[in-house]
This record gives sequence, structure tokens and C-alpha cells, in this order.
Amino acid sequence: MAKTPASQGTQKISSYIMMIVLIVLVLSVVSIILAISVYLTGVSTPSQAGTDDLTAGFLAAIGLVAMTMSMFTLRQSRKQAAEMKIEVPKVMTTIECKKCGTKTMREFQRGDYVYKDLDACPKCPDTKQVITAVYKEIKEKEKTYNV
Ligand SMILES: [Zn+2]
Repeated sequence: MAKTPASQGTQKISSYIMMIVLIVLVLSVVSIILAISVYLTGVSTPSQAGTDDLTAGFLAAIGLVAMTMSMFTLRQSRKQAAEMKIEVPKVMTTIECKKCGTKTMREFQRGDYVYKDLDACPKCPDTKQVITAVYKEIKEKEKTYNV
């Protein structure tokens, strides 16, 4: 009877954020790798030996900040996606048979309106089923927050 609800819309937003986060994450990893290689091998001539540590430290700092920021963004976007899933109410349609009074509920379909005639009732083939209600299904928000 009822199909399992498919989550729409939220995936598009999170994949867009995920792209940016992934790029930042890759850049941060690259800068950390660079920092390690600079620290171990060094890029400057022996006369400027002191600048190697500075360069390595600077790259490592950039890498760590970028990584922290991307992780934070990832967590925030996941939280938002979870909240959006709860907030978007489904529109439901109630179908009723005039004769036997059998009520059926299904997700709203384009073109649904109250008093619209539908297909024949499975119990009484000579009677058409009628849409008696179109409403938004409001789910109660979950009160648990996992931080
Ligand atoms: Zn019927």
C-alpha cells in the first residue's frame, strides 16, 4: 500500500557542500604533506637553514586550520540535512469509497484535489473512489540532539 518515503532535495544541497569540503580537505592534506617534506628534507640553501622550520610550521598551520574548518562544515551540513528531513512535511491524500467507506492514504500526486473521482474501489467495482482530503503530514520533532 504505502511506499517507503524517499528523501528528496536534501541530497543535492549536501553533495554541493561535500564537494567544497572535499577540495579543502585535499588541499589541507597536501599542505601537511608539504610541511613534513620541507621539515625533513628542506628546500632552502644551507645559508638560510632557519627558514625551513618556519615554512614547515606555516604549511602545517594552514593545513590544520583548513582541515578543522572542513570537518566543522561537514558536521554542520550533516546536522542541517538531518533537521531538514524532519521539517519537510509530506503531503498526503485520503481516498474514500462512497459505497463501502474504505479509506486509503497515499502520497500526494500532481493533479490531486478534493472530490476528484479516481479508479474503481477494489471491493465494489461499480463505484468510483473519491479524494476526501489533502493535507500535510506533520511529524513530531525528535527531541534528542547528538553533539
Ligand atoms: Zn468500496
